[in-house]
Amino acid sequence: MDLEKHVEKILWTEQQIFQRVSELASEITQDFTPQTNAPAIVGVATGAFLFLADLVRKIQLPISVDFIRADSYRSGTVSDGNPRIPFDLKVDVEGKHVILVEDIVDTGSTLSCLIDHIKSKGASSISVCTLLDKPARRKVHFELVGKGKYYCGFECPDYFVVGYGMDFAELYRNLPYIGVLKPEMYS
Ligand code: 5GP
Ligand code: MG
Repeated sequence: MDLEKHVEKILWTEQQIFQRVSELASEITQDFTPQTNAPAIVGVATGAFLFLADLVRKIQLPISVDFIRADSYRSGTVSDGNPRIPFDLKVDVEGKHVILVEDIVDTGSTLSCLIDHIKSKGASSISVCTLLDKPARRKVHFELVGKGKYYCGFECPDYFVVGYGMDFAELYRNLPYIGVLKPEMYS
């Protein structure tokens, strides 16, 4: 199967992603250098796995790395707006600075649910680092915790995107760039 042939257009190339991820890692390194506690980097599975892997290798701080899962995309390209947490943290985040790493913020319901959940575990701050943000589609407002900051790689137009960790029906996560599929692939 030649995945390239399924892609209608590329929105961000491997090189553009590499460059932006380096910038985000530098910002995080600078912002958290004065902290005495090592921040806990928490990737939202599965979509953030490549972004997380590239980001943490460029963060020059002692950090812990963990994953959490929130499932809201039951099928297709539409969220049911009610995420569950079937896979929770291993790291104890009480009193820690948590940086939630997401592939994409869409309606905001996943993040809102994850922030409440991690806040209830006693994190002293919660930041969000998302590769993509679709602000035009926001439905649920979420608030960062403590001195948490919001880091965003790129603003995403209102397309359903795949690649660099992001899937359609569990495929295309291994594309090294981010793109949009041909319409016939989504049906
Ligand atoms: P939200 O809860 O903000 O509506 O959705 C967040 C999650 O939906 C993201 O973490 C991501 O997994 C998924 N999602 C939202 N938009 C897209 C998209 O364009 N492509 C893919 N592959 N997943 C998306
Ligand atoms: Mg996600």
